[in-house]
Amino acid sequence: MKGRVMLEVNNLKKYYRVTGGLMSRSIGEIRAVDGVSLAVGMGEVLGLVGESGCGKSTLGKTILRLEEPTAGEIKFNDVDVVRLNRRHLRELRGKMQIVFQDPDSSLDPRMTVGDSIAEALVVHGISGSAELDDRVARLLEKVGLESDFGERYPHEFSGGQKQRIGIARALAMDPQLIIADEPVSALDVSVQAQILNLMMDIRERDGLAYIFVSHDLSVVRYLSDRVAVMYLGKIVEMADKTEFFRNPLHPYTEALLSAIASLRPAGRDRILLTGDLPSPLNPPPGCRFHTRCHRVMPVCSQVEPELAQIAPGHMVSCHLYV
Ligand code: ADP
Ligand code: MG
Repeated sequence: MKGRVMLEVNNLKKYYRVTGGLMSRSIGEIRAVDGVSLAVGMGEVLGLVGESGCGKSTLGKTILRLEEPTAGEIKFNDVDVVRLNRRHLRELRGKMQIVFQDPDSSLDPRMTVGDSIAEALVVHGISGSAELDDRVARLLEKVGLESDFGERYPHEFSGGQKQRIGIARALAMDPQLIIADEPVSALDVSVQAQILNLMMDIRERDGLAYIFVSHDLSVVRYLSDRVAVMYLGKIVEMADKTEFFRNPLHPYTEALLSAIASLRPAGRDRILLTGDLPSPLNPPPGCRFHTRCHRVMPVCSQVEPELAQIAPGHMVSCHLYV
């Protein structure tokens, strides 16, 4: 990692209780995030990849305490996020923001776009209509929209424009870290690159850090400094981008990369990933990936591998390596 550590997450867990039957008895827990540790440096982009349902969104929301953690530590600029009260949490959320996949989810259809953006500013104590109008206009310009678009309503905009507005809203309080949760997945392919370029321009200009969540490895390769792979609530591999794409070690990462011809490392075969992601309600014993692994060994169903550093900055949790 380059630069000072800004965000540090240690052994973070988010379990959802599942109830059933007439008495709504507890019948188990969904371990959506099950012991994640990671760090993000100032101005760094950490790409987070994994299949749908592996816990990426839950991880993002729990880091911001939009979901309450079940266990674990979250430190942002050395502030203990887990213990913050409401007021301090609000301050924190100015500095650490989330952009969702679906731009509509962050925009109220009954509010003008300008009011939606201003709302984020008002929550943080900025008042005075002249100053608010001015800030909103500058934010709209920053994301490549006309400064007078603030008077319009969300339905007047295309998906790409709405995502620009969502980004403007996230930028309102000059954040240091943006958790971007598949911010272009819901957009037409033709506008995806524009939004990605916008996010990277803003990063260059403002020195922002991102946790960039995506299931698209070519996107992650384009914009990340480091890459983390998640599987059933856990990080199974994490490395600097160059090392990650040159020397993927975890069989799951191998399989993900081998599925894309342009990303398959030289001399490696295509690996077909079979079966679905098992349920986080009842994850397989031992290594969670063993039921789908092409290099499975007897130990894998018995003992859960630890995430261990096996080369500088390259962490992997797999019995092949430790
Ligand atoms: P991803 O973003 O990687 O697709 P999610 O974080 O959305 O994955 O979901 C991880 C797991 O947690 C899934 O099995 C999902 O069904 C479950 N989950 C997410 N949110 C909730 C919730 N509010 N209540 C119960 N289960 C949830
Ligand atoms: Mg998600």
